[in-house]
Amino acid sequence: MSRIDKSEVACPKCQQKVEVMVYHSINVKLDPTLKEKLITREVFRNVCKCGEELNLMYDLMYHDMGNLRIIWLSHDEKNTPGILSLTGMWLASGYTLRVARNFNEMLEKIKIFDEGLNDAAIEFIKNLMYGEFAKSGEREIDIFFDGIHNGEFSFVIINEKGARQAQYGKKVYDANINLFENEYKDYAAKSNLFVNQQTLHAYFTKKLEEMK
Ligand SMILES: [Zn+2]
Repeated sequence: MSRIDKSEVACPKCQQKVEVMVYHSINVKLDPTLKEKLITREVFRNVCKCGEELNLMYDLMYHDMGNLRIIWLSHDEKNTPGILSLTGMWLASGYTLRVARNFNEMLEKIKIFDEGLNDAAIEFIKNLMYGEFAKSGEREIDIFFDGIHNGEFSFVIINEKGARQAQYGKKVYDANINLFENEYKDYAAKSNLFVNQQTLHAYFTKKLEEMK
């Protein structure tokens, strides 16, 4: 089941109270339409009687019961212990668990897993992309996996000017996936909640030190 509450928020424009739905958890097997509404951010969108659009953002749990995956959208590090206390039960049931720190990260994880890809190997590809963009002087960017188009990986590149698409990395992924499924499989483990650029750097820094 999905867990949904009603709540009230004040409209920032007219100060009227607006009744909103708050989705604490979304079970995408039982509620596939809610998955679509999550991906399009519709679950966060509410309209006041005055016409003002309210876009809320809050923590929630994405629960893919069919594929045994849970992604927690958890904006605040302070909530990590609460999530950690829940992991044992899910891991025992064979779940893959991840935590996303913002909505784009959550969306990215959903898309990676829906394509049957290894998110650690995708972070490795993104790391190469960040390197290439940095070389051409673009540093203040975010990169998110966006799917597979015409047989190539598609990424969204976000900078202060906006978002654009880039195709990249399928061949590099295919050439390296064995490493992530074998040698680096502890990093790609079901229990590794945080698979992102920060933890990728930390993991490979440690690996390099071990090799010394
Ligand atoms: Zn209003």
